[in-house]
Amino acid sequence: MKIMAVNAGSSSLKFQLLNMPEESVIASGVVERIGMDGGNFKLKHNGDETEEQLDMPDHAVAVEHLLEKLVSLNIVDSYEDISGVGHRVVHGGEKFSDSVLIDQKVLDAIEEVSDLAPLHNPANLTGITAFQKALPNKPHVAVFDTAFHQTMEKETFMYSTPYEWYSKFGVRKYGFHGTSHKYVSQRVADILGKDVKDLKTIVLHIGNGASICAIDGGLSVDTSMGFTPLAGITMGTRSGDIDPAIVEFIAQKQNRSLEDVMNDLNKKSGYLGISGVSSDSRDLWAAADDGSDRAKLAIDKQAKMIADYVGAYFIHMGGVDTIIFTAGIGENAPETREVIAKRLEKALNTELDHDANNVRGKEQIISKEGSKVKLMVVPTNEEVMIARDTQRLMNE
Ligand code: ADP
Repeated sequence: MKIMAVNAGSSSLKFQLLNMPEESVIASGVVERIGMDGGNFKLKHNGDETEEQLDMPDHAVAVEHLLEKLVSLNIVDSYEDISGVGHRVVHGGEKFSDSVLIDQKVLDAIEEVSDLAPLHNPANLTGITAFQKALPNKPHVAVFDTAFHQTMEKETFMYSTPYEWYSKFGVRKYGFHGTSHKYVSQRVADILGKDVKDLKTIVLHIGNGASICAIDGGLSVDTSMGFTPLAGITMGTRSGDIDPAIVEFIAQKQNRSLEDVMNDLNKKSGYLGISGVSSDSRDLWAAADDGSDRAKLAIDKQAKMIADYVGAYFIHMGGVDTIIFTAGIGENAPETREVIAKRLEKALNTELDHDANNVRGKEQIISKEGSKVKLMVVPTNEEVMIARDTQRLMNE
């Protein structure tokens, strides 16, 4: 059966059409600049790439265009050929600990937690509504970035802040990238031929956004992102963990609003902020190789923060069997993996295999044989996880 996995942003819509249960990609693409001038539609199918410049006033028009295109290119016979649609939704709050078939109640609940993700949830809802309009008789499923982390214990997800912040306003750690962490931890079990219940895994999802997750027996027991995706380790443009008092201090020093300072922490920090060069790991390495101390510092700062989290999660789980590198940097940057691995080797009794580590975008064990803790590269695949959940819920 054909299942569509959708990731809708405020002005964009990414999609992948998958054949299930084979999990093969039939077509994929993106619609950009929806509701703006200079709309753009890209579709990949069978190695061919189609690109069109076309202004689309809203998501509903974009979805209609996309579906018509799939029919006219004979990728699907008709709209009927699409059995279900899985939608990525950023925030499920405490309401959703698993993916769910969408009905009006679910739409209302996603709306209710929108104040926790004001930039993302409304956009996700717009995407859902647009697809529901085009495919009204098909099942639609919501797959939440936060759901996988709902298994964290209270002492883990609570902050040491006034209890009312939590009970009245929902201030707590939620964690993100859950679909990726879940996919990767299951994949590791498959690769090693083990039951996921018997594995303690730490997943290092390092892309522009980055988060670490401790997974014990298939369940998320801690993760580095928090109430928002700003928390945790150094990212492309986000600071990760800092002393919150810095926000007020800088606001006063520079006579700026809190919002403005928060913007610096989200968009002008991390790799970009420390290096002054770029948020992109490739540029950062090129600058470091050219002698930029600040580029090198950004790389080392991130590696230090990652190692600190790994240490904490090692203690929390009472051990670790596998440490996984995934996402843009984790999958494709052997040099970044190397600086991280160096910090883990001694305490965890593991050793990087430099030849095996020379790999990009491929599943591979990269620690030497005999290492107590296995280091691995496992490319993430959120679309497959979305399609799997959609199919599972359709069958239930
Ligand atoms: P996100 O999904 O959070 O936007 P990605 O997972 O796509 O981010 O990761 C983007 C990062 O991956 C960038 O810093 C980019 O430089 C890095 N990256 C992608 N390909 C490579 C590569 N071949 N070598 C090194 N880094 C890479």
